[in-house]
Amino acid sequence: MELPYTEPYKIKVVEPVRRSSRNEREKWIAEAGYSLFQLRSDQVFIDLLTDSGTGALSHHQWAEMMLGDESYAGSTSYFKLKEVINNWLDMPYFVPTHQGRAAENLLFSALIKEGDLVPGNAHFDTTKGHIEFRRAFAVDCTIDEAGNTTLLHPFKGNIDLNKLETVFKNNPKEKIPLCIITVTCNTSGGQPVSMQNIRDVSALCKQYGIPVFFDAARFSENAYFIKMREEEFAQHRIKDIVREMYSYVDGATMSSKKDAIVNIGGFLACRDKDLFEKISMYCILYEGYLTYGGLAGRDLAAMAQGLKEGMDFDYLESRIGQVAHLGQQLADYGIPCQIPTGGHAVFVDAKKFLQNVPKEQFQAQTLAIELYLEGGVRGVEIGTLLADRDPVTRKNRYPALELLRLAIPRRTYTNNHMDYVAACLANIYEKRDRITKGFRIVKEAPIMRHFTVQLERI
Ligand SMILES: *Cc1c(COP(=O)(O)O)cnc(C)c1O
Repeated sequence: MELPYTEPYKIKVVEPVRRSSRNEREKWIAEAGYSLFQLRSDQVFIDLLTDSGTGALSHHQWAEMMLGDESYAGSTSYFKLKEVINNWLDMPYFVPTHQGRAAENLLFSALIKEGDLVPGNAHFDTTKGHIEFRRAFAVDCTIDEAGNTTLLHPFKGNIDLNKLETVFKNNPKEKIPLCIITVTCNTSGGQPVSMQNIRDVSALCKQYGIPVFFDAARFSENAYFIKMREEEFAQHRIKDIVREMYSYVDGATMSSKKDAIVNIGGFLACRDKDLFEKISMYCILYEGYLTYGGLAGRDLAAMAQGLKEGMDFDYLESRIGQVAHLGQQLADYGIPCQIPTGGHAVFVDAKKFLQNVPKEQFQAQTLAIELYLEGGVRGVEIGTLLADRDPVTRKNRYPALELLRLAIPRRTYTNNHMDYVAACLANIYEKRDRITKGFRIVKEAPIMRHFTVQLERI
């Protein structure tokens, strides 16, 4: 028989996590104002809040941390990172940054002005925030199929070329400083972009003279999906797929807390020397000198090593296999989820799950709280709380989807943990008809309310 995938590592250090009682959790979540962000991490048993910066380092990465060179300028750790970015990603210029949004800040400071348009697939929220903060507009050109959670499509992160060309045709070139391809597309659920789509978008951008950049946080996971789902690449190495992906873009912003498997870090890479010089000025202003960019030498070294490990096929197979495993468990229990599962998270459809809770009472947040109470598992609401109020009418915005996101940290939990999470959700699913009441807001911030909102039971 064909042998199953396994984790390409064994575990050398363990961090104990404590199971708690339902009574304890009832008390803790009430004290937290029913906000999962307000919980202390030691009140959580399995933490699926995010896959950002929460992965486990390898012993090679820890060794690199010990070798970290803390020189202000010209650190040897910087040159290790440079080697990977120059040779593996084939990007001639880069600056390190303290995380992904810092890379966005540098790039957009150099390129975006008021009134500009930045098309792409669905922009990540910090990307959109940095665009809108400059009074410019993020234009979502994702294919329509991405909005249908029950439709099987191999590349739901793809950009609709007609939508993109419409933006190019209807606006002067000067108003479109760049196009962004987010790989994988976080906002549409960690869904990949095909190589063919990257090629087509790149060609179209070239035709209209628009630079194209990756928001590259999960580029390795995207490369894995290309290998598995795009026939042309079935026999390619991940490393070669990655190199080809980058060959179609003018640069990339990177949150290394994702596919470079580090706790903190990022970078901004590009091909154009003039642009690099502009970026360098902002880097020194906002982040630090060009060879450390807001990071310690040890962080640069761990990032260089993590980037390489993140492109290992066996690692990616077990990583994405684990996410698919959780998705399959939930599907087997009949729990409505987005399909196909993406690279880093499983999204549970709370609108279908908790049909007796009115949308005004925050279905996805209610499900997230139920899951915490059931087993100490922390997910995150991607629904009405996150969608916030309309800035003009101040009315709640009700998005098309109410989702509970379960993001899986890299190399951190076992499939037993995943089975436990699935069993918790199955128990809730069994009693779903009896869950009829949600929550009301007691206190909220004027923007980005989901981080600090305080709720009470109805
Ligand atoms: C996380 C993320 C960012 C922002 O990166 P930070 O390191 O959190 O600042 C940008 N884009 C995407 C797609 C991300 O997932």
